[in-house]
Amino acid sequence: MPNSPGQCPRPNSPGFNKEKFMIAEKDKVVSFHYTLTNAEGEQMETSREKEPMSYLHGANSIIAGLEKAMEGHASGDSFSVTLEPEDAYGVRNEKNVQRVPLKRLKGIGKISVGQVLNLQTNKGQVQVTVLKVGRFNVDVDGNHPLAGKQLTFDVEITGIRDASDEERQHGHVHGPGGHQH
Ligand SMILES: [Zn+2]
Repeated sequence: MPNSPGQCPRPNSPGFNKEKFMIAEKDKVVSFHYTLTNAEGEQMETSREKEPMSYLHGANSIIAGLEKAMEGHASGDSFSVTLEPEDAYGVRNEKNVQRVPLKRLKGIGKISVGQVLNLQTNKGQVQVTVLKVGRFNVDVDGNHPLAGKQLTFDVEITGIRDASDEERQHGHVHGPGGHQH
């Protein structure tokens, strides 16, 4: 409840903590923990055993529906948002399921179902998941593993700060939870 009256001190009052009451908006670096569950309630991913994730708000660096849900929240806020595939990792495209000759995959070693491979294509490197291994061919799926899924994010915002000029220019976060370069 970041904006409920009586809870949020006024910016010029003695008790006001600027850091604490920063909100997620353009050019802020937002750090958060999340747990991702699918429509069946199964946990798909969590950041809880790691450092919180950090992103630059307004730079399209996290999925659109999640960024929209973050907007206006303050540090310390927890919330849940359920996203349809269109607002998360997109709908599945069956054209991304392809049969690849095994001889194109020389040097990869033994290939098994569920394995994730980086395929060199004329559109550059594409990450695919192995669906089926035959004698001469392998069926692979180039859709994102979370494509076509309704996803619920349980989010806790752990920190918000101003982005540096350099971060704004690069369009991403530097330091912990962000780009290391
Ligand atoms: Zn950079």
